[in-house]
Amino acid sequence: MIINDCNVFNKYDDFKTFKNVKAVFPNICPRCNQGIMPVLIYAVFINEDQVGFSALFLCPSCERQFLTHFIMISRNQYRYINVEPQSPIEKVFDENLSKISISFIEIYNQAYAAEAYSLNHIAGMGYRKALEFLIKDYILYVDPLKEEEIKNTKLQLKDLIEKYIDNQNIKDTAKASIWLGNDETHYVRKHNFDIEDLKKFIDCCVSWILMCYYTSKASTLVNKK
Ligand SMILES: [Zn+2]
Repeated sequence: MIINDCNVFNKYDDFKTFKNVKAVFPNICPRCNQGIMPVLIYAVFINEDQVGFSALFLCPSCERQFLTHFIMISRNQYRYINVEPQSPIEKVFDENLSKISISFIEIYNQAYAAEAYSLNHIAGMGYRKALEFLIKDYILYVDPLKEEEIKNTKLQLKDLIEKYIDNQNIKDTAKASIWLGNDETHYVRKHNFDIEDLKKFIDCCVSWILMCYYTSKASTLVNKK
């Protein structure tokens, strides 16, 4: 832990005077989420009692600014209590998943961001929507000729899975995800699971889809010889 010297200006005397304090600076940028040594731009005590101050930092990695609030922990020593703004970290999927469904990755990460902002009701519905795109895009990835059929289908998602997906593991994890996903849109929950379970089932479904993707690539390679 690095303790930094920091000149904190006094707002109450029009920033004419400052006090030199010791403070531990944040070491992760809230905007780009990289580990950093932030550059202090300016720090100011809000009140005359000097128990807390705000500081503006520059991230040397993404070159954007962020605000941090500090409180006194002992005479002349301060620690930060929060950093703003908070950017949600994106979930990184296997790079080849984007060949199957770029929409799934986009919608999933919007739901992920909603969850980071504690918008849990919206997040659950977002994950459900992401799953629907994943399933339909996967069916079309396997058989692109089914595009019109899938786009115009009147089948419910669970029936679509039953009809068009062969792999039993994808079927099971997708169906379980739908049940929990639908619960996120219902007025009354039917299943005793939560959003964490939903995300685990979706992750599992993604893994099986990728396993099929890579197995198919491996089979093509082996059969060439
Ligand atoms: Zn940054």
